[in-house]
Amino acid sequence: SLVLVTGGNGFIAAHCIAVLLRSGHRVRATVRSVEKADATRKALENAGVQNLASLELVVVEDPTNLGALSPVVEGCQAVMHLASAFNYDAAPGEFEEKLMIPAVKGTRVICEAAQQYSSIRRVVIMSSFASVYDAGLGLQPGRVYTEEDWAPLTYEDGVNASAVPVAYRASKVVAERTAWDYVRDHQVQYQLVTLCPGMVFGRMIHPISSLSQLNASNQIVWGVLNAGRDGEIPLTKAPVWIDVEDLAETSLKALTFPETNHERFLVTQGSYDTQEVADIMRRRLPERHRAPLGEPGKRLAATHYSCDSSKAQRVLGVKFRGLEESIVPLAEQLYGMETP
Ligand code: NDP
Repeated sequence: SLVLVTGGNGFIAAHCIAVLLRSGHRVRATVRSVEKADATRKALENAGVQNLASLELVVVEDPTNLGALSPVVEGCQAVMHLASAFNYDAAPGEFEEKLMIPAVKGTRVICEAAQQYSSIRRVVIMSSFASVYDAGLGLQPGRVYTEEDWAPLTYEDGVNASAVPVAYRASKVVAERTAWDYVRDHQVQYQLVTLCPGMVFGRMIHPISSLSQLNASNQIVWGVLNAGRDGEIPLTKAPVWIDVEDLAETSLKALTFPETNHERFLVTQGSYDTQEVADIMRRRLPERHRAPLGEPGKRLAATHYSCDSSKAQRVLGVKFRGLEESIVPLAEQLYGMETP
């Protein structure tokens, strides 16, 4: 079948494209410029991604424009929607334009465009743990989040946020609610599946030419890797995570599992903390690493909320690798990208 992937040049999307192609699907992926299309194909080629002949890259400059997006949905059987701004560059005053509109209108337009073509049977939307947890409640020791939980942020909270992480979280939860509202209010012929991953770490196969372009979640790992042996361990925020290849596999299963209901899945391997990242580096890259010592062995796990992602594992039949297996290849890649 032909699957539309939006935001095809992104960190997670590149892995989604790779697993789709590997499992015999054809992929049409959107990017916002010809340069990004070229860079994406080249990066996937360099990463050894199979069946690239079955990948079509299309330029949609403004994926929040229904008229521009709709024609690229034609002929597809499924959609995986990943395009959304996940960076912390925007300043107060810019949150609506740079975060809320791309996320919320982008999701609305995907739901509408998919409804225009009866060939579309499933729409998978990459939401986030940001749409699940209530950051305002702090660490909440003992609390266990599941896909039943919803972050309370509103559109106005995003527009008027005091800091960009709040605006980002609002953009994700309002976007996801927009999709659920759409399928509640329309007789859609497709099944909606939303995925709510924690922080996504792992080796990168998307186009990235320097560490300054590092995606937001891998920046957390790099923050530890690059803090210096005499430095301080950066604070752990939103301490739940998933490996990027495991998330891509979960996304594939979300497209293909035999279900007729709409479904929401929390997708996390478990908790992590930045001290654990440092401890793994000292053990696995003893010569090379630049992570601080901190307090080896100390773990935050007992002092903050956790997640139950068993629904995804049970219904989709996926298994999630541990932190070490995810971040050691990433660390090798990141240290290798430094200019000597
Ligand atoms: P990346 O930053 O690597 O990729 C983001 C993608 O979205 C790029 O293709 C980018 O295109 C596109 N995009 C960014 N801004 C806009 C915009 N204003 N309009 C249209 N497209 C835009 O991020 P990830 O791969 O990490 O994230 C992919 C998805 O997964 C996002 O929806 C994100 O919210 C979600 N997610 C990510 C998590 C993580 O830890 N990484 C955790 C939970 C959810 P361009 O290069 O042209 O800007």
